[in-house]
Amino acid sequence: MDAPNPDTLHAENQHCDILIIGAGPAGLHAAFYAAWRGLSVRVLEARGEPGGQLSALYPDKRVYDVPGLPAARAADVVAHLLEQLDGLAVEIRVNSVARTLEQAETGWQIGTDQDTFTAGAVILAAGLGALLPRAARISGADRHPDLRTDLPEPSELSGRSVLIVGGVPQAARAALELLEAGAKVTLTHSRTGFRGDPVSLARLENARATGHLEILAPARLLTLTPQGAELEVNGETRHIQADTVLLLGGYLPDLSPIQSWPLDWRGEYVPDGPGGRTALDGVYVVGDLAGSGGDFKLISVAFAQAAVAANHATHFVKPELRVRPGHSSEKQ
Ligand SMILES: Cc1cc2nc3c(=O)[nH]c(=O)nc-3n(C[C@H](O)[C@H](O)[C@H](O)COP(=O)(O)OP(=O)(O)OC[C@H]3O[C@@H](n4cnc5c(N)ncnc54)[C@H](O)[C@@H]3O)c2cc1C
Repeated sequence: MDAPNPDTLHAENQHCDILIIGAGPAGLHAAFYAAWRGLSVRVLEARGEPGGQLSALYPDKRVYDVPGLPAARAADVVAHLLEQLDGLAVEIRVNSVARTLEQAETGWQIGTDQDTFTAGAVILAAGLGALLPRAARISGADRHPDLRTDLPEPSELSGRSVLIVGGVPQAARAALELLEAGAKVTLTHSRTGFRGDPVSLARLENARATGHLEILAPARLLTLTPQGAELEVNGETRHIQADTVLLLGGYLPDLSPIQSWPLDWRGEYVPDGPGGRTALDGVYVVGDLAGSGGDFKLISVAFAQAAVAANHATHFVKPELRVRPGHSSEKQ
């Protein structure tokens, strides 16, 4: 087994051995395996953070069928997957939606809205599609100067007044992170309760009780204004001043950025042959997107497919490396 090379850091848009589309469990485990074999890996992720469905859709739910991690919070499963990448030559680029795929002299060229990358092989781990924020249909949306629909980098909003709208776990998390970063936060939701892990919800309540956080729930968002928003609270209209409005309404999967790629699509699946091969030479598919998994949309299935495809892709890019990885336990 080749030793991973932690020094192979990617200069701006440098060619990499393997490019993975999607940082869900399939993409992260494929990244681990290819980098473990000594290859350089870049992962493109549409969302602002890795973790796929686990971090976007159910971070606080417990997952009981991940091998070796009994009754783990989904967010903790992601944390473990990321920890396993420590010291390996893996770069994860968030907020990067892969939109184009073309053959290149060195393998494949992949385009996002911002950049173009080349790689020896590509692993598609796009799951149900790019998990993008639900479109915000709200009165006055074009009047506010800083309306956002995804988790911000908290330090960016330090010292600003922020109105967070939503009851999803990301709303509770954003409120706590922004308070910690020194923002003045108001949190509102159309229902009384917020979703999140018990510890976060207790911290939220404590911040409210000690006057550090204003919570207005249930409340109805009437309209955004250039200065903030108007809310209906207990039958009265209140104006909330906000430099930034954060609308967190959850995420919806969108396959359209890659659905025109010539992969012989079967509905929302990409057919896969032995080793995760697709109709395109040097392009592999794993996880929920892979046809062979079918109804088995499971993390454990994604892991197995990722291990197999990453090792086939490794051999494809570096034929001198065998497909078979050997045992990690043999490493000293
Ligand atoms: C509520 C819920 C509960 C679940 N519970 C369990 C459970 O208990 N046990 C279990 O085994 N499974 C469970 N699952 C299923 C499990 O989450 C999926 O099988 C798993 O996430 C699939 O992993 P993946 O990496 O293939 O795809 P995903 O997790 O969907 O990750 C794909 C990633 O690719 C990104 N992406 C897609 N397109 C692009 C693009 N063009 N450019 C850049 N990035 C892109 C997406 O944004 C996403 O982050 C659950 C699913 C849900 C919704």
